[in-house]
Amino acid sequence: MRYDDSNIFAKILRGEIPSEKVFEDNQVFVFMDIMPRSPGHLLVIPKAKARNILDIRKEELHAVIDSVKKMAELAMQAFNADGITIQQFNEDSGGQEVFHLHFHVIPRYSGERMQSPGQMVKDMSNLKIQADKIRVLLN
Ligand code: 5GP
Repeated sequence: MRYDDSNIFAKILRGEIPSEKVFEDNQVFVFMDIMPRSPGHLLVIPKAKARNILDIRKEELHAVIDSVKKMAELAMQAFNADGITIQQFNEDSGGQEVFHLHFHVIPRYSGERMQSPGQMVKDMSNLKIQADKIRVLLN
């Protein structure tokens, strides 16, 4: 399967559609998921054109994983989380919906289940408030 430049995360990386960015460097981009499964749900993606874990180069994957770990640590602190769920899906049959590699970093709270998928955030300003909580720890 080939990488398709028209996927939504490629458009976010090119700045063609908005996102609530939390962090970026020359290899990685981190932003808030617009349909959070739990408050503080982040997405970590490579800037490299990789469809998923099956076609990304190892060096590029390492940079993404470093960022996933960093974001997991920061999310614990920023959102007073009790745990973190990391999810990553590959190809249609593997549950993938957006075909640009991404890792979900999902803060979890004691006794609270994840929201069902596909529920758009009700108030976009909440995403900014959450992103600010991470951004302040990066400074
Ligand atoms: P997956 O491919 O891992 O099944 O899911 C893709 C993820 O991308 C979902 O959690 C979905 O909420 C998120 N998503 C889809 N479209 C957008 C978008 O336009 N902006 C943001 N920030 N997240 C999106």
